[in-house]
Amino acid sequence: MSDALVARSLGTEPPRLSIIVPCYNEEDALDHFWRTIAPHLDDMDVQWDIVFVNDGSSDATLLKLVQLHRADQRAKIVDLTRNFGKEAAMTAGLDHAGGDMVVVMDVDLQDPPELLIDMVDLWRQGYDVVVARRVSRFDDTQLKRVSAGNFYRVFNRISPSKIPADVGDYRLMDKRVVAALRALPERVRFMKGLFAWVGFPTAVVDYERPVRQRGTTKFNYWRLWNFALDGITSFSTLPLRIWSYLGLFVAVVAFVYGVIIIGRTIILGIDVPGYASLLAAVLFLGGMQLVGLGIIGEYLGRIYSETKRRPIYLTGGLYGLKQEKAERP
Ligand code: UDP
Ligand code: MG
Repeated sequence: MSDALVARSLGTEPPRLSIIVPCYNEEDALDHFWRTIAPHLDDMDVQWDIVFVNDGSSDATLLKLVQLHRADQRAKIVDLTRNFGKEAAMTAGLDHAGGDMVVVMDVDLQDPPELLIDMVDLWRQGYDVVVARRVSRFDDTQLKRVSAGNFYRVFNRISPSKIPADVGDYRLMDKRVVAALRALPERVRFMKGLFAWVGFPTAVVDYERPVRQRGTTKFNYWRLWNFALDGITSFSTLPLRIWSYLGLFVAVVAFVYGVIIIGRTIILGIDVPGYASLLAAVLFLGGMQLVGLGIIGEYLGRIYSETKRRPIYLTGGLYGLKQEKAERP
C-alpha cells in the first residue's frame, strides 16, 4: 500500500456518499435493507443517497422502490427496461451516481453496512478504493467455494491484471475511479476485472460474510460458469495462444514419428498393423481441433457483440436522477 498517501482536504460541507444497489426480484428484501442501512448512514458525517437499479424485476420491486422514493427523496431509482444482469446494473448505477464517493452493495445485507464507517474513514485518509474482503464464505456451498477458488487461481495466472481473492463487488470508490470506469468502452462488463484493471491506491477491510437475510440467490451454476467465461475471455488471450504451442508440439512429435517409421520401413520392410493407433491419433487430433475452434468461437462471439456497439443497458425510467449524457467511446 502507498506510503505517500495524502489525507483528503474536505470543504465545510460533509462529503457526498452514493450507494449503488442492483435489485432483481427483491421485493422481500428492500424494506429491510432500507430500514437497516439508513440509521448507519445517518450516523456518519456524510450526505447520502441510494441509487437503486431495478434490473428488470418481474415482481413488485419497482413498486416498492417508488414507494421508498416518494417517502424519502434520498432513495433514487434507475429502472432498466429488462433484466440485463448484475454487471450491467452496476454499470447503470455507476453512470448515474453523483457522490464524491460511491459504494456498490447487494440488497440482501450480505455486505454488512457496519463496514461503511471504516471504508469512508480510509477514503478520508486518501485511499481511492476500499475493498471489503470476506474472511469466510460459510454461506456458500462447498462446490461454489471450490469452483470460485479455482476460477480466481486460473484467472490470476493468465490475466495481467489480478483480482484479489475473496473480494466481491462490495467496495467504496472515489469519484475519479468512477470516472475511469465510466470511460471504459467495453460492452461485456466483467466488473471485478474492470475494478482491478483501473488500479488506484487501494485499502482492504476484512469481514465475515453473513447469510442472505431476505429473498433467494439469483445466480445458478450455469450463470456462474458463463460469468467465468466472460471474465477470462475479457482479460486474457492465453486460451487462444495455447493452440499454437499445442499444434507445434504435435507437429514435431508427428515429424519425429514419421522419420522413425520411414527408417524402419526401409530397413525392415512394410509392416501392416497399426490400425487401432491410427484411429486413436485421428480421433484425438480431431477432438483437439474442435476444442481449439470452440475457443476461437468464444472470442469471436465476444468480438461480435463488442463491434455491434449496443448500449450496455437501457433505462425505462429515472426517479430523482438526471438522464446520463455521457457517451461511451
Ligand atoms: N442482481 C441483479 N441482477 C441479476 C442478478 C442479481 O441486479 O440479474 C442483484 C441482486 O438483486 C442482489 C445482487 O445482485 O442485490 C447479488 O445477488 P445475489 O445475492 O443473488 O448473489 P449471491 O450473493 O448469491 O452471489
Ligand atoms: Mg447475495
